[in-house]
Amino acid sequence: MCGIFGISGHKEASRLTYFGLYALQHRGQECTGIVTYDGKENHLQVGGGLVHDVFQEKDLSALVGEYAIGHVRYGSAGNRGVRSALPLSVRMAGGLQLAIAHDGKIINAPQLRKELEDEGAIFQSNSDTEIFIHLISHRLRNLSLEEAILDACKKIEGAYSVLILANGKLIALRDPHGFHPLLIGRMPDEKHSYVFASESCAFDLLEAELIRDVLPGEMVVVEKGTEEIVSYRFGEGTPVRQCIFELVYFARPDSTIFGENVYQCRKRMGHTMVREARQEVDCVIPFPDSGIYAALGAAQEAGAPYEHALIRNHYVGRTFIQPTQSMREFGVRVKINPVHSMIQDRKLMVVDDSIVRGTTVRTRVAKFREIGAKEVHFRVSSPPVLHPCCYGVDFPSSEELVAVHHSPEELRQELGLDSLHYLSIEGLMSTVSCPNSYCAACFTGVYPTALPIAE
Ligand code: AMP
Repeated sequence: MCGIFGISGHKEASRLTYFGLYALQHRGQECTGIVTYDGKENHLQVGGGLVHDVFQEKDLSALVGEYAIGHVRYGSAGNRGVRSALPLSVRMAGGLQLAIAHDGKIINAPQLRKELEDEGAIFQSNSDTEIFIHLISHRLRNLSLEEAILDACKKIEGAYSVLILANGKLIALRDPHGFHPLLIGRMPDEKHSYVFASESCAFDLLEAELIRDVLPGEMVVVEKGTEEIVSYRFGEGTPVRQCIFELVYFARPDSTIFGENVYQCRKRMGHTMVREARQEVDCVIPFPDSGIYAALGAAQEAGAPYEHALIRNHYVGRTFIQPTQSMREFGVRVKINPVHSMIQDRKLMVVDDSIVRGTTVRTRVAKFREIGAKEVHFRVSSPPVLHPCCYGVDFPSSEELVAVHHSPEELRQELGLDSLHYLSIEGLMSTVSCPNSYCAACFTGVYPTALPIAE
């Protein structure tokens, strides 16, 4: 999972991209990059770390031009390190400068890469995104840029929300299933300055107007100096399958994606989860920050006070992204610490959005007993994660998924909980307005694409 941002026709393109990426930082903290186009050539800077560490004022000044795209990368298995940083920027035959930023995962990447290499393509990186570049460049011999991109998309299977900057054209596309979000906005008082972002929270920061989602199977082209956007459709007939985990965990609660406000959706998950497994408790406690919104709904539904009895150290990144298990466990302890007096002698409902490896619940919930909680009822606002994701969410392989080896009852016993309840898949789907338009393969094992994941 990554975050992408783009802007057309604005004097402050690099700075606004910097702020756009800042708002999307939660989608990836491993590396980041910005490409601008100044009317003649592209300027690129990428680096490892957070947006504000990588870009200083002098860097933004050197990224000249009124067009920009940017990327924040969440390292996933096999693709860590700054060598995988995006955007990629290349000069193609005929002087076309093309830069590309991608959120998602191409599932037929190995086959496409082999085919392209057999035809003579030389790859510079191991990123899926380079496949787009080779597919497009091959087609540019006979086709226009737009035709070449649409034709390339016919070969690509999987998840891609993409921004392309090509000699002053800004192009946004979303795969026909629409796995990951991508939205269109417009800068205030600048009718020809369009912005694109993975989540609407990036528009709020820039005071840009949210226009709409890039639709699943849509390519949107913004031409230099025009006020209109041109839309092309592709992959007709493909069922829409947006990633439900974006709403459960990934997206920021102040964002609206897939037509849903994330905050309200998470609250509904909390309400539904409590309705499914009622329990009288003294208070409801969220795991910060991921459990907060479901816990709000849960507390309202349970009629119990909401207490912030787990305190988050905000100077620690997302613990999940740490590469080893011992670092992850230590990371959870550094990140979350309980308020003892709020826990002693009380019946608690503790809420998190998901259990994946079980690190968070194992490391912290056992502590509640030691501190002297009377009862601990754990509630999870999504079903058990039982299957890996092949569309960009960095879940571990099946062996590491705790729910694969432990039924809820086994896990409850192992953790010494009084009760444990995961929101049912039906309950989860009842919280969104178009339940049939989601991918929930991580919970159900029903993958919407023909190619299965190689586990
Ligand atoms: P775990 O501790 O391994 O059970 O993971 C669950 C915790 O990590 C929850 O608090 C989630 O909010 C968070 N989480 C779940 N899935 C992911 C993911 N793919 N990447 C990063 N964090 C995640």
